[in-house]
Amino acid sequence: MSLRMRLQPEALGTGMTSQRVRDRLVERLREEGIRDERVLNAIRMVPRHLFVDEALATRAYEDTALPIGHGQTISQPWVVARMTEAVLSVAPKKVLEIGTGSGYQAAILAALGLEVHTVERIGELLRVARKRFRSLGMNVRSKHDDGHIGWPENGPFDAIMVTAAAPALVDALSAQLAPGGTLVAPVGGASSQSLVMLHKQSDGSLSQQALAPVVFVPLLSGMID
Ligand code: SAH
Repeated sequence: MSLRMRLQPEALGTGMTSQRVRDRLVERLREEGIRDERVLNAIRMVPRHLFVDEALATRAYEDTALPIGHGQTISQPWVVARMTEAVLSVAPKKVLEIGTGSGYQAAILAALGLEVHTVERIGELLRVARKRFRSLGMNVRSKHDDGHIGWPENGPFDAIMVTAAAPALVDALSAQLAPGGTLVAPVGGASSQSLVMLHKQSDGSLSQQALAPVVFVPLLSGMID
């Protein structure tokens, strides 16, 4: 699968954002069990330092979540990689993400050539993420809305990725999964969450498995500017 993006000079980075620093992150992810070369390659190519504030750019290739304002975070690279691997296991074409945040996870999916739809409840975060997609030449469809309702007009989706934690899987989202599709979501409260992978069989029945313990910000209701 070829990587779909346009790299401008600032995307290539220097010093703490250089290719060497990014390669080190990729090696670390490999050591920590990420095996899918397509995912590792996308992480190598997508400039994570352009998805955080300039003041944090030097930390962008650490395997850690970082603040993006409004009390939200860009997910840890290992978590992004693991969720992306899980989603790729069903060979999806059309993917829905709930919780655009910085736009980084959506950019990884777009770089893998997937048709990406993403929903964010905080208008200001979405505006900044859209600018990033544009400047990287990425075609990502996005909507300012409460992700609890998904994006029914554009469904069904081969894969759905929820990047904020809820106490239980959201039924409206699993309803928008195509047969054979998968949904990956953190489930739990503030202190303990599990990354759950839900599978919709071709007869419509659902099965699920837990992938890893994770920590995400909560999935909240309503929209704000
Ligand atoms: N995928 C993001 C991670 C962002 S953190 C990234 O790669 O940067 C989780 C995001 O989910 C936050 O931006 C938060 O505002 C958003 N969110 C929380 N509840 C939501 C909801 N109900 N609908 C849409 N987005 C939501």
